[in-house]
Amino acid sequence: MKNYHTHTFRCKHADGDVADYARAALDQGFEVLGITDHTPLPDNRWLPIRMELSDLPGYVSAIEEGQKAFPELKMLKGMECEWAPEYNSFFSEVLLGKYSFDYLILGCHFFPFGGRWLSSHGEIVDAKRLAAYTEFLIKSMRSGLFSFVAHPDLFGLSYLEWDQNAAAASKDILSAAEELKLPLEINGYGLMTRTVLNSQGTRTAYPWLPFWELAADYDVTVIVNSDAHHPRHVSQGIKQGRQIARDLGLTLANLECLERR
Ligand SMILES: [Zn+2]
Ligand SMILES: [Zn+2]
Repeated sequence: MKNYHTHTFRCKHADGDVADYARAALDQGFEVLGITDHTPLPDNRWLPIRMELSDLPGYVSAIEEGQKAFPELKMLKGMECEWAPEYNSFFSEVLLGKYSFDYLILGCHFFPFGGRWLSSHGEIVDAKRLAAYTEFLIKSMRSGLFSFVAHPDLFGLSYLEWDQNAAAASKDILSAAEELKLPLEINGYGLMTRTVLNSQGTRTAYPWLPFWELAADYDVTVIVNSDAHHPRHVSQGIKQGRQIARDLGLTLANLECLERR
């Protein structure tokens, strides 16, 4: 098994450190474990849910020590990143450059709207905001910095009804992923823990099934990760997410290129 998306205590809403994840992953027979905490940002924006910039060297050494301590596991040095144009050089020169990260994940948790930043988790409540999220997500995808897109259908948390706007947003995201050959993630954390109520009843917030049904019409690949925020959840939702991919005939991405160590 492989998992390319996990978080450590440094982001302030997860538990455990690299070694705890490594032990949990080995217990469950994983061959590849990507550590991808929420990135620090040079201006320390959105600090309550991410590590401080001063935590970066400690994070990197925790992974590098883990790589030495658990040679039977292919452990990758990654980060889940909010993109904005002003962070391009931080991501490319500091993370991918100076610290030799194996890969960066795009996780779009905030997007600009009406002169301020809104949360992709709770504030995509109408068609205009959905369009703004979609546009910003696609712009972020086009930066060329990321190896895949975490939970592209995160809008399903607050945009409750599947309608023509949800379909249009999904098609735009899927077209961009196809063009950029950027894998899209079926997120295990969402699958196992996030539900919302709409006029049809209770549904999984994300992965939102109609998004992935549409994905079958595009030449895109998918990756299934746990997005674990606790070592005991290192495999959460992976089996179930893979079943969704199989049921819909989606192609799993091959990310062996990230394992260049
Ligand atoms: Zn998180
Ligand atoms: Zn995550």
